[in-house]
Amino acid sequence: MNEIIKGFRKIVYLTFPPEESGRPVVSNLSKLFDLSFNILKADISPRHEGTMTLEITGLEEDFHKGIAYLKEAGIRITPVAHKIFRDEDSCVHCGLCISMCPTKALVINKSDRTVEFDVEKCSACGMCTRVCPVKAMSLDLEDADRQ
Ligand code: SF4
Ligand code: SF4
Repeated sequence: MNEIIKGFRKIVYLTFPPEESGRPVVSNLSKLFDLSFNILKADISPRHEGTMTLEITGLEEDFHKGIAYLKEAGIRITPVAHKIFRDEDSCVHCGLCISMCPTKALVINKSDRTVEFDVEKCSACGMCTRVCPVKAMSLDLEDADRQ
């Protein structure tokens, strides 16, 4: 059974300036703001600009406080919008993702009962990638790196 986590969720792309790469600012998201985070990808090396793709979960209010804290620490934040893709060949239009989608980017087409994906409405929360039984929904982390 898939885990269902309540609350606000967003995937963000962080760019650390060289002088910040070693600081544990990301760990402070949980300590100071009660946020959970999951590092999806990281490329950090001493004395160089580093990058990290981070999935953050918690209360929306705390999320915004945490983001403000990261920005104050000199970290550049880019929302990972438009980086969720659906493999049209794999999708079986089961509809499981619809109720998970907080922005109504995934909706049922009432005329032919297929599930439509509107990338313009997607906030890249990543919830659909967790529930899709055939892994049709995915986050392109390589593409996120090129933002
Ligand atoms: S859960 Fe996956 S297979 Fe089912 S409708 Fe959504 S994208 Fe398609
Ligand atoms: S389509 Fe998926 S990633 Fe985008 S907002 Fe809906 S549930 Fe989140």
